[in-house]
Amino acid sequence: MDELLTRNFCIIAHVDHGKTTLSDRLLEYTNTISKRVLTAQHLDSMDLEKERGITIKSHPVTMMYRAKDGREYKLNLMDTPGHVDFSYEVSRSLAACEGAVLLIDAAQGVEAQTVANAHLAFSQQLKVIPVINKIDLPSANLELCTKQLEDILTIPAEEAILASGKSGIGIEDILEAVVARVPPPRWREYAQTRILVFDSLYDAYRGCIAYVRVFSGSIKANDMMLLMSTNQKAEVKEVGTFTPKMEKCAVLHAGDVGYVVSSIKDPSEVKTGDTITIASKPAQEMLPGYKEVRPMVFCGLYPLESDDYEKLKAGLGRLQLNDAAFVYSSESSLALGFGFRCGFLGLLHMEIIQERIRREHDVEIISTYPSVIYKIVKQGGEVLEVDNPVNFPDPGTIIETLEPTITASIILPNDSMGDILALIMEKRGVCEHTDTLDMNRVMLRCVLPLNEILVDFNDRLKSITHGYGSMDYELGAYKADDLVKMDIMINGDPVDAFSCIVHRSKAEAKGRQLCEKLAEIIPPQMFKVAIQAAIGGKVIARDNVKEMRKDVTSKCYGGDISRKRKLLDKQKEGKKKMKMIGKVNIPPDAFIKVLKSG
Ligand code: GDP
Repeated sequence: MDELLTRNFCIIAHVDHGKTTLSDRLLEYTNTISKRVLTAQHLDSMDLEKERGITIKSHPVTMMYRAKDGREYKLNLMDTPGHVDFSYEVSRSLAACEGAVLLIDAAQGVEAQTVANAHLAFSQQLKVIPVINKIDLPSANLELCTKQLEDILTIPAEEAILASGKSGIGIEDILEAVVARVPPPRWREYAQTRILVFDSLYDAYRGCIAYVRVFSGSIKANDMMLLMSTNQKAEVKEVGTFTPKMEKCAVLHAGDVGYVVSSIKDPSEVKTGDTITIASKPAQEMLPGYKEVRPMVFCGLYPLESDDYEKLKAGLGRLQLNDAAFVYSSESSLALGFGFRCGFLGLLHMEIIQERIRREHDVEIISTYPSVIYKIVKQGGEVLEVDNPVNFPDPGTIIETLEPTITASIILPNDSMGDILALIMEKRGVCEHTDTLDMNRVMLRCVLPLNEILVDFNDRLKSITHGYGSMDYELGAYKADDLVKMDIMINGDPVDAFSCIVHRSKAEAKGRQLCEKLAEIIPPQMFKVAIQAAIGGKVIARDNVKEMRKDVTSKCYGGDISRKRKLLDKQKEGKKKMKMIGKVNIPPDAFIKVLKSG
């Protein structure tokens, strides 16, 4: 087929603006998939994705479309993950395209993610086709949406297509615009074969399957391929396209989107963003934009029941096979036993992995406080990277501490401005720029420490703005600040699960809160128990656990001996499970309660 008749594009949108519905409508219109199959909304295949309305894995699909000019075009629709945590994956999916359909919900207007995604598309030099979607809604405000397109995204309003994925309006217009406005495959003239890996999938039988976009040259079974980032060679076993199910074909040509199965079994060896070339006639330069993805957020994950350790380990291993950005290694904690230190791209990524462990692998887990990677400059100039408070060096040896920052775009209603600015201040952020979006909304650009948004920033943004606020962020530079490690001690013994790295100005309040919480949760003991928060051995907050024996039988007046025995047995059972810390018996769920309370 003539490669000039190929169009590679994606749909980008804020969550809930109708991407899945519209994609399905396109598949239906081009007879790629029948209506019946579509009821399952198959592009988002994981349950969790469906529930949360986010796309984690990119599933491309090839459609054939006869355009009004009478020619038949091959349209490769790439699905992109919507959330910022996966922005590197988004950027690689975009790099595989020449155009992007940018969806805007006609009733909601431009949101934080719309702006972030549009910028990503512009930075990949994609032709952006603006689509104002859900125009069937009575609350649709076309005038406002077109104004926002011009003012915020600098896209001429006359380029906008009006559509409704639900009632099928504008579907043909979108397909025609893709054919007419998106350029044919770029970079075809390069002398050697260059193929972008934009995603990969692990298959228990076939090993690692790379999702690819061929830019120049071609690839077929039995070729010896070369992965340029590692110089690793492998034999190609099979190539094919997505119809949307994987379908074997003889050869993938320049402009094609498809998959490559090779002799490589280990998914960590096929990296997203890498360039595949042919070993006998290798390309000189890789395709642009490759980078190693590095986890930014870390936490400890522990099985609630220690018997579940092996199950947790197996579950993490299986999740990692399909998610190279997720890393883990074993660790142990005095309070929580044996578990794993895990690294994630961001908060949402962390939540998704935790949720999948619970659901798909049926293990109840407890997570420690999330942490970012701090850089610590020691005397003599050595720079340590610390993602676990346990590894924080002795304060006497530290010259400087640095933490990662983010640049956030926050969209909010005007009347929440005061409260949001106060929240940003509380989180040690600085607001650098304010844009008026329309009569009711503003967009703020602020710089915040990543650490400060880890726990409750988004929840508080949503609650202050009654759900109308939205946020997106990109990672920024490291900045020096006064960071310290705070320990929590029970009768003088530090409890590692509660150690954390905090800004000095916040240590006392956080220490006090933790001590109070623990004092409340730890049951009364036979002797006085001190709970202290300390920085470098200096106590900054303290509380005491009550001193008393809890007589569980006192509730049973009357002589019901069997009931009394049952209670005593229960108490014995409870004791068995307790952890001993500094001679203090602590029920394991005490740690969990405190960790859960933030
Ligand atoms: P995604 O998160 O961007 O993939 O959005 P979905 O396609 O899952 O749609 C989000 C919600 O909007 C769902 O409840 C859809 O039924 C609804 N929706 C999608 N497209 C339209 C549309 O054109 N009109 C209306 N009224 N609702 C729509």
